[in-house]
Amino acid sequence: MKVWIDQDLCTGDGICVEIAPDVFALLDDGLAYVKEGGNILSEPGGVQGLAPVPDGKEDGVIESAEECPGECIFIEI
Ligand code: SF4
Repeated sequence: MKVWIDQDLCTGDGICVEIAPDVFALLDDGLAYVKEGGNILSEPGGVQGLAPVPDGKEDGVIESAEECPGECIFIEI
């Protein structure tokens, strides 16, 4: 499973970070980004920030995508 966020649609509410803090992070620009290892994929983000979901974190990513009010968390299998 891989995941990316479309920051153009992100509302910055932080729900994804609450649900899956190992996968998502909020930055000072008020938007959420995907993390890969210790890195936040914010430059440039978007589909360029596509990253593998760590083992065991899949359920949190799916729940985040379901709860995301911006409908901007995209999962690729
Ligand atoms: S849940 Fe969606 S809208 Fe909210 S911060 Fe995360 S990516 Fe952005």
